[in-house]
Amino acid sequence: MFIGHFAVGFAAKRAGPRLSLAVLFAAAQFADLLWPVLVALGIEQVRIQAGITAFTPLDFISYPYSHSLLFLCVWGVVFGAICAGVVRDGRVSLVIFALVVSHWVFDWITHRPDMPLYPGSAKVGLGLWNSIPATIVVEVTMFIIGVWMYSRSTRARDRIGTRAFAALVGFLFAAYAANLGQPPPSVAVIVWTASAGAAVLLLWAWWFDRHRNPVT
Ligand SMILES: [Zn+2]
Repeated sequence: MFIGHFAVGFAAKRAGPRLSLAVLFAAAQFADLLWPVLVALGIEQVRIQAGITAFTPLDFISYPYSHSLLFLCVWGVVFGAICAGVVRDGRVSLVIFALVVSHWVFDWITHRPDMPLYPGSAKVGLGLWNSIPATIVVEVTMFIIGVWMYSRSTRARDRIGTRAFAALVGFLFAAYAANLGQPPPSVAVIVWTASAGAAVLLLWAWWFDRHRNPVT
């Protein structure tokens, strides 16, 4: 799943109004932030295998530390504790934990059975990616709902709060559409675009979120 994880981050602003949208995105996408680093280090493995699912040609051979349920629970506790300490509000840890673990749940729905419960476990996955139309319907619906919830739980203070927000939504849609049917040329390209893309998106979200006030 791609924009579906961003949808969950957008939606979580109501539950965690004191947290920057960038932090909410980072929590929902934590697995996919860690993953390219571990792939680059050779700790986790992926290869490109045309046709392995209808939606994506990525064959996730092994990714127990970034994508097992057990490790995402651990990362969720750690990330949640750090955020709760920074904003001095214990409830924040629950929001972050739920976001980090939500990544596993939504990847479990989309991936073929390649998602581990814990390192070395049997792998599970419901395989939404076997259908391109179903994947698009689910992800785009989630995204629209998430963006709508964020727009209702915050109010723009100025033009940056309106336009940079709208631009990010448009950019994510465009990136999603551009990815359809485009097999990546190499694993190195995947690692670099995933890392650079995440950095840009988090900075972008942090920027315009500061120009929007939570609606109380
Ligand atoms: Zn993932």
